Amino acid sequence: MHIIEPHFIILDELDQQSLPVRIEFCGRICYKSENRINSDSALPFVRNMIEHGHNSVLEMAVVTLVVSCSTSNPVQDLFFCQPKFLHIDQLTPRQLLITGSIRAFREMLLFYPDNNITQAIALFLARRHPYFFSGIESDTQLPPPGISVEKMPLAEVEQLAPRQCARHRHLAVKFIVSRAVTHELVRHRPCAFLQESQRYCRYSADKFGNEVTFIKPIFFDEQSKEYTIWKQSMAEMEQQYLRLLQTSTPQAARTVLPNSCKTEIITYANLMQWQHILMLRTAKNAEPSMREVMIPLQQELRSRYPAIFS
Ligand SMILES: Cc1cc2nc3c(=O)[nH]c(=O)nc-3n(C[C@H](O)[C@H](O)[C@H](O)COP(=O)(O)OP(=O)(O)OC[C@H]3O[C@@H](n4cnc5c(N)ncnc54)[C@H](O)[C@@H]3O)c2cc1C
Repeated sequence: MHIIEPHFIILDELDQQSLPVRIEFCGRICYKSENRINSDSALPFVRNMIEHGHNSVLEMAVVTLVVSCSTSNPVQDLFFCQPKFLHIDQLTPRQLLITGSIRAFREMLLFYPDNNITQAIALFLARRHPYFFSGIESDTQLPPPGISVEKMPLAEVEQLAPRQCARHRHLAVKFIVSRAVTHELVRHRPCAFLQESQRYCRYSADKFGNEVTFIKPIFFDEQSKEYTIWKQSMAEMEQQYLRLLQTSTPQAARTVLPNSCKTEIITYANLMQWQHILMLRTAKNAEPSMREVMIPLQQELRSRYPAIFS
């Protein structure tokens, strides 16, 4: 049995990587198979996710596009479609700033294949990453006339006015916390999440140190009798879990694992959502284990984006 303190890592370095590299890095948290990442592994991983319909992995990388139209008609047509899970700002009557994940752009093509802006975006992305649209038939080979699409580099997104930056700048944070905390975190619906899976991870394996890892609870002092009770309970649960694993699968054995189990979760959201999460989860009435990670995260984001988080 291993006991650790909860912590988080802001994955902003990942934003400098290509879209498939970002997707693979996040996706592998589910299987804890990060050791299989190499210079050639991203594309097969992404293809495999698409083939198996593991679409939430494709939510883990967004791209910001400037779409310019020669008339305002395509802009109106797009708003009538009401495409989901995109952040759209109208820069001028004929120009849009659109941020979306690969999943959102895939589904935009799937549901609105005849829309001109949809076609222009899909062609723009497919020229760079054809595998993103595998399984979706599109007859369009040429961009619709009068519509151009350009990528907005991240450095420019960061220079947008605070309100726009908050909508378009997305940030991934990896939390290493208890299952109790992640149960609460996943209630924040506009975010994308990927989490270490107790169905796939077999904690008796060498790569997990042949043991279960628990998060030290904020509630009990290490010298207290409550802490001793908690520690004993964790040791007993671990024993039962390891016994069950001798004859059962991880998904069956995990039924005895408690809330204190350590888990890893990547939460990906725009800065506006982070504002909302931090407001709720740092408040005095929020769960103390949640505040334990959210208060330092808020301090860190305040220093990085003072105009948004102050
Ligand atoms: C102190 C505290 C105590 C809590 N106690 C409980 C409890 O006892 N039981 C319990 O079940 N939960 C509890 N929760 C969870 C809480 O009910 C929310 O589910 C959670 O905080 C997510 O916040 P949210 O709903 O504001 O927004 P999010 O899901 O983070 O959504 C963000 C924004 O998206 C929009 N949005 C998302 N989905 C919809 C939708 N379907 N319709 C309209 N707008 C939408 C809204 O504009 C919303 O502001 C608690 C949370 C806190 C902070």
